[in-house]
Amino acid sequence: MVIVLKNSASEKQIDELMNWLQGFDVKTNLVHGIHSNIIGLIGDTTRIDMESVQAKEIVEAVKRVQEPYKNANRRFHPDDTVIEVAGRKIGGGTLNVIAGPCSVECEEQIITTAIAVKEAGATMLRGGAFKPRTSPYAFQGLGKEGIDLLIQARKVTGLPIVTEIMDLSDIDLFADVDVVQVGARNMQNFTLLKALGRCDKPVLLKRGLSSTLQELLMSAEYIMSEGNSKVILCERGIRTFEPATRNTLDISAVPLLRQKTHLPIVIDPSHATGIASLVEPMSLCAVAAGCDALEIEVHNDPKNAWSDGAQSLTPAQFAETMKKIRAMAEFCGKPLDIN
Ligand code: PEP
Ligand code: MN
Repeated sequence: MVIVLKNSASEKQIDELMNWLQGFDVKTNLVHGIHSNIIGLIGDTTRIDMESVQAKEIVEAVKRVQEPYKNANRRFHPDDTVIEVAGRKIGGGTLNVIAGPCSVECEEQIITTAIAVKEAGATMLRGGAFKPRTSPYAFQGLGKEGIDLLIQARKVTGLPIVTEIMDLSDIDLFADVDVVQVGARNMQNFTLLKALGRCDKPVLLKRGLSSTLQELLMSAEYIMSEGNSKVILCERGIRTFEPATRNTLDISAVPLLRQKTHLPIVIDPSHATGIASLVEPMSLCAVAAGCDALEIEVHNDPKNAWSDGAQSLTPAQFAETMKKIRAMAEFCGKPLDIN
């Protein structure tokens, strides 16, 4: 961190500021320039709040030269993190495909879909039991019953299950879930993130609707700073001015996050586009960009789905898409994770 001081700063004020900064266990280096004085900070500055520094009377400007996230930062963990999920590995050299319906609706729907995605080559099963819906009058998910049905689908197919938590008070219901998803709307629910940081469970953290990559990484940091390092990042499209798609898929997030962090990266082309016919091309782009997993919505009867039918693939469409995903994954040297 570099702090530029105002010309009006007195020696006494500069001393006071330096003492305050040293309280954070960093070294301060005062440089007297011709036009202004500068303090350079050396050490771990993650605990220093930039706004508090900026608020000091004698401070002209503050700039971070190091990212404010430590645990998620590739600088301090050069090797890719590989997260084990029931014998499968997310991150490292293989590709996982998490597929299943937006919402768990009933036994027949989830079991039929789970068997179909497994046959097509999916490596994990998704399904929402707690649904964050824009309207309070829309289907909100089956809750505990939905999780029980996912566990049943796992018994039938052997696929590990991924499902979203919305409220901390439901946390006990997730004890037997393989990957806990934090949805885009909860990316900055810091109480929830901290609580998940105290669990020993992989967390799939989705990027907020209008969050920057740095904010996503800071949310990962919330989980990791509490002790849980099993965080999987997910780009699921962001809000832009373009109304033709539900969101805009930020494909560049994959290589950029890859540089900044060692955590595995997932792309969700379903929520990113909102249009079933765009899911395949976007999946292939995502694999080419180097993602570690895809999360794709598949429904046994999309036309009658209780949520997100327009973006859901039929089992037949998914099977076709999987053929191309598999080929692209092989071509890119990151084959499908086979268990
Ligand atoms: C979901 O995956 O079901 C979901 C609600 O996604 P998002 O949080 O990305 O909108
Ligand atoms: Mn959905």
